[in-house]
Amino acid sequence: MTVTTRFAPSPTGTLHVGNIRTALHNWLLAKQGGGRFLLRIDDTDVARSREEHVIAIRADLAWLGLHPEREERQSARFAIYEAAFQRLVAAGRLYRCYETSQELDLKRKVLLGRGLPPIYDRSALALSEAEHAVKAASGEAPHWRFLLDHDEPIAWVDGIRGPQHFDPRQMSDPVVRRADGSWLYMLPSVIDDIEMGVTDVLRGEDHVSNTATQVQMFRALGAPVPRFAHEALLTGAEGKLSKRLGSLGVSELRESGIEPEALIALLARLGTSDPVDAALDAQDLAASFDLSRFGRAPARFDEAELARVNAAVIHRLPYARVTDRLPAGMGDAAWEAIRPNLNTLAEAAEWWRVVTGPVEAPAFDDETRASLDQAADVAAGLDWSGDPWAGLTGALKDLTGRKGKALFLPLRQALTGMDHGPDMKALLPLIGRDEAVRRLG
Ligand code: GLU
Repeated sequence: MTVTTRFAPSPTGTLHVGNIRTALHNWLLAKQGGGRFLLRIDDTDVARSREEHVIAIRADLAWLGLHPEREERQSARFAIYEAAFQRLVAAGRLYRCYETSQELDLKRKVLLGRGLPPIYDRSALALSEAEHAVKAASGEAPHWRFLLDHDEPIAWVDGIRGPQHFDPRQMSDPVVRRADGSWLYMLPSVIDDIEMGVTDVLRGEDHVSNTATQVQMFRALGAPVPRFAHEALLTGAEGKLSKRLGSLGVSELRESGIEPEALIALLARLGTSDPVDAALDAQDLAASFDLSRFGRAPARFDEAELARVNAAVIHRLPYARVTDRLPAGMGDAAWEAIRPNLNTLAEAAEWWRVVTGPVEAPAFDDETRASLDQAADVAAGLDWSGDPWAGLTGALKDLTGRKGKALFLPLRQALTGMDHGPDMKALLPLIGRDEAVRRLG
């Protein structure tokens, strides 16, 4: 069967780093198996879902290059849920309840007070049809719970956590539909996973207990249970998920100069002990993506590491990939010369200004000034077609006896206005002879 994964965000906010990692891992898992990656917008909660977030989620995935084969919206699928719902009602797997949240709270407190687990007592299951009719006549609409089969042990081999076992007797029958007819997340997700042929559900470990109940829902609907894997949650470098990291999203990262390739390279490995591969093509990462490499310990997201990966990615980006984001006039050779000095692509403009000038050199002492005048004369007469930097420094060394820093630093300062920067061998031809002579003189 074709591997099919899905990323199922609720459009109640924008994607943060943790969601992006989930999306990426689902994409990698699908691509590795030559399979399909689906985007499912979980917008059953109409009041909290926002169209602007749907648009932002699509844009973020597009920026990352994670293109879904198919997009579905839960809000367009209510008829499908209704049909499955009716089947489960007919099969006796859904039942009507009327407890208010205050009543449920009280029941929980009583149980906890007695040192018992706060499991729903199924008292609504004992209501007779006549009692339901009385409630209906008084306008009291039920909410619906899924009846867990206490005799069906729940187990799956989690792709990350290994064998998992749950005792349904220790679990509450989950509410799947509210009294107003609206859906909770649990059942529609299962119905969709079945209908969309999802073979692998990969999501955060905050969903482990949901999976336990969903395993029985798949069976109740007569469908095979997909493979499940639950990833450890993300924490900041300091050990917990900070507010900042919890909201850190694509737009902030993009504005701070992070390339999609860098974010993908880091997140593809985050949670494993494998080194980050600053790959330029996510497809290359798919081949080596391996769920069994992921540990159960929280994965640490370190912005400093992202910055390092970003620089490594930029140092490998070919000119063709960045052309339209570079300053006008900046060509292939300039990109090659400047690229190794960049932490972000925006910095290219600063180095390009160094090439195009004007630059401001520091004040030099008289002896250095004199040596630079000699350098200007040498530069004016140099064969510029070969390696003018080697020609210039070689000739100046012979003329002045300067060497090392005393030779190179004043030249760099006069030519670029900076103490450091790209390799002068690559930079000098870009500055050009006339401009170099002017800057030296
Ligand atoms: N909408 C759910 C969430 O964002 C989806 C969980 C799932 O992948 O099944 O948590």
